[in-house]
Amino acid sequence: MSCLFCKIIRQEIPANIVYEADDILAFEDVNPQAPVHILVIPRKHIATTLDITDDDNELIGKMHQVAAKIAQDRSVADKGFRLVMNCNRDAGQTVFHIHLHLIGGRPMNWPPG
Ligand code: AMP
Ligand code: ZN
Repeated sequence: MSCLFCKIIRQEIPANIVYEADDILAFEDVNPQAPVHILVIPRKHIATTLDITDDDNELIGKMHQVAAKIAQDRSVADKGFRLVMNCNRDAGQTVFHIHLHLIGGRPMNWPPG
């Protein structure tokens, strides 16, 4: 499969992995938008938020728990952080394997651009 994040899961391309479990992986974003910018992904290939099924509900919840744990480990939890999952073109999704952006370490604007 040509999916970039599946290649990272299969260790065909390198990544700075910060968390590993049997169902979830987290690694540093290659183009960080803040002092902390980590991507939390399921090992299962799910293309977009629109493709999440009932079978994935536990997995999606766990992705959020992993993100929260990493936010605490990186000391951005108290000040605050953002979790973002972009879906399709208008949101700027470029990799079609769902990923939770954990962004923190600086103040952020709302609404996002
Ligand atoms: P999105 O635009 O929401 O699909 O996010 C894709 C993210 O993947 C972007 O923030 C990219 O910087 C990041 N990215 C792309 N290629 C890699 C890679 N090889 N390793 C780590 N992050 C990557
Ligand atoms: Zn994939």
